[in-house]
Amino acid sequence: MGDWFQRIVDLDATEEDAERLGAEIKRWLIERGVVVAEEDDCVLGAETGNRPGPHADEVIEPAPMKDWTRLWTCGLDVETGRTVFDGGQGEPQAAICPRCTSRIRLVTDSWEPIDEAWEPFATAIGTWHDTGAADITCPTCAVPVPLREWQWADDYFAFGCLGFEFWNWPRLTDAFVREVAERLGGHRVVHIEGKL
Ligand SMILES: [Zn+2]
Repeated sequence: MGDWFQRIVDLDATEEDAERLGAEIKRWLIERGVVVAEEDDCVLGAETGNRPGPHADEVIEPAPMKDWTRLWTCGLDVETGRTVFDGGQGEPQAAICPRCTSRIRLVTDSWEPIDEAWEPFATAIGTWHDTGAADITCPTCAVPVPLREWQWADDYFAFGCLGFEFWNWPRLTDAFVREVAERLGGHRVVHIEGKL
């Protein structure tokens, strides 16, 4: 049994805004009882997080497992700074060009990575992480497209500066995800699920 995570990633928050927005959302979640204010060791990938509060059940789909809040790893981690948010296990299957909608396959039918297709994306991800900007020229339409505008099969990747990572929570409701987006000033968000 591994650990599941869900992330709500803000696609529009800048590096300058991320800390403030992350703190505002966390304060709102604490006031609303979705998470508790105290922090302890309850997340993976960070020292501490916030465990579910008395009203956590208002933001999740009906839980098949009633006692998930008693798991050791069941907290919220707010991640800020330039981050490659990915789906954890497995390989990205395909990238989709937002200009011409062509689908760039990144794995074969037997799930082997296609190195020559993946290489320009890998390079761009490294460049974006270092500098905050990178383009990939679409092999179909030949237009350079910023990394953050590419779409990914199964929403495998999101590149952003602010993410809310919920560990082992039952699925967050779409209404809650929309509410977070509104609180972020109407920013575009993606809801990603993954497994470690
Ligand atoms: Zn294209």
